[in-house]
Amino acid sequence: MAKNYNYDHYKSVGEPATKVGFKKKRPKSVAVVDEDNCTGCQVCIPFCPVDCIEPVPSEKYGIPIPPVQVRHDECIGCQLCAKACTALTWDAIRMIETDEFEEVYEAEIS
Ligand code: SF4
Ligand code: SF4
Repeated sequence: MAKNYNYDHYKSVGEPATKVGFKKKRPKSVAVVDEDNCTGCQVCIPFCPVDCIEPVPSEKYGIPIPPVQVRHDECIGCQLCAKACTALTWDAIRMIETDEFEEVYEAEIS
């Protein structure tokens, strides 16, 4: 008899992206990975509709499975990665308001 798995706890998680889009306007927030908490499991990557999450270059940490990072200027602020990480793995992604991000990281988001 087939097992009756209960997937209710997945209900707040979106669907993995089925195609890759691109940013059309400046987002209200961008996703920031807490690299100290990220296991590098890459569960979040297929959820990103603009494919802007990637592993940190291995030279940075010198470990076999590095954490991931977001290419911030491509992020559309959809939060799908943060929901997936929170619900399914390590809660290592925070959404930060774009204005605040620019100030803290001295970066420009178009
Ligand atoms: S799902 Fe979370 S822990 Fe896994 S790679 Fe993405 S940010 Fe890191
Ligand atoms: S919020 Fe996350 S999933 Fe959405 S575009 Fe940004 S990095 Fe990708």
